[in-house]
Amino acid sequence: MLRSTILAASRNRGVETLITRAPVSRQVVRRFVGGADTAAAVETTRALLGAGLTVTLDHLGEDTTDRDQAAAVVTAYRELLESLHRAHLTERGMPLTARAEVSVKLSAIGQALDGPGGDGEKIALEHAREICTVAERVGATVTLDMEDHTTTDSTLGILAALRADFPATAAVLQAYLHRTEGDCRDLASAGSRVRLCKGAYREPASVAHQKREDVDLSYVRCTNILMSGAGYPMLATHDPRLIEIGIERARFHGKQERDYELQMLYGIRPNEQRRLAALGHTVRVYVPYGAQWYGYLMRRLAERPANLTFFARALLSKG
Ligand SMILES: Cc1cc2nc3c(=O)[nH]c(=O)nc-3n(C[C@H](O)[C@H](O)[C@H](O)COP(=O)(O)OP(=O)(O)OC[C@H]3O[C@@H](n4cnc5c(N)ncnc54)[C@H](O)[C@@H]3O)c2cc1C
Repeated sequence: MLRSTILAASRNRGVETLITRAPVSRQVVRRFVGGADTAAAVETTRALLGAGLTVTLDHLGEDTTDRDQAAAVVTAYRELLESLHRAHLTERGMPLTARAEVSVKLSAIGQALDGPGGDGEKIALEHAREICTVAERVGATVTLDMEDHTTTDSTLGILAALRADFPATAAVLQAYLHRTEGDCRDLASAGSRVRLCKGAYREPASVAHQKREDVDLSYVRCTNILMSGAGYPMLATHDPRLIEIGIERARFHGKQERDYELQMLYGIRPNEQRRLAALGHTVRVYVPYGAQWYGYLMRRLAERPANLTFFARALLSKG
């Protein structure tokens, strides 16, 4: 009920105008979105890097079934990477690309074009290659976000193809999927960057754990596999217990702070992000930016109405 109401609101122009103009929305957007355009995203990045954090930037966009739109997203990433490279942290400091990378959703660059069996995968791979080429030129890296389970094999296939030329390209694995321990084992090799998150999509019981405790237990098992391997784990969670366990598992397996990182979303637990960074951890903040923030926030809310409390808690919380 709540989900369909939010989805209906996300498609209603009148509601969109009302919400985008409401003062409380501007506050929510400022808190969770790193800016409406490239210049604003660069400034947000500069501020976060200045506070001792690292960054991954996500250009907001709907899943696309339109070739021109997919190509426009590639152009946006190119502009962003070049702007980050031109921008320096201080007058004579390092370019922002030394500590800022990009996160890319394959659905935004063509993966779903022409439906199942179409040439969307080929187009997405070529587009991702273009983004990786620019990223490499400016000294940055790329992470491929993970979307719903129907795309997991395709995304991991594209990742493997990209890694042949751009080995630093990172994968994302979702602890809620039954398959993920196996994927962790496959990807826990030297040089392999892997972001581990709980998973954000509504998935059926046939493929995903449904209970919060089961997802958390899977997250711990996956953390242990990644930390015991030779790769570079990136623990993306706001969950204090899982962060603590992750740091303990890293120490247990002899990993130093430089051998893994912690990741959180922009605007969620910002004080904790800074506290962990001050303790010597690499903390990467995931910063969504772009004009399409309305759809982004509404879809996050619709996918998991629990996110209403997620955002409300973040607005109220000092942690
Ligand atoms: C950097 C990053 C990248 C991501 N990339 C992807 C991706 O590619 N694909 C994907 O499917 N999902 C992705 N996600 C989303 C992820 O899968 C989860 O949906 C999201 O992070 C919420 O789960 P959680 O681990 O934070 O734990 P939750 O179960 O939401 O929260 C656990 C605990 O964390 C603490 N907490 C959570 N939120 C707050 C808050 N607002 N204020 C204070 N305390 C809080 C509380 O103690 C809470 O009990 C990403 C998440 C992050 C952080």
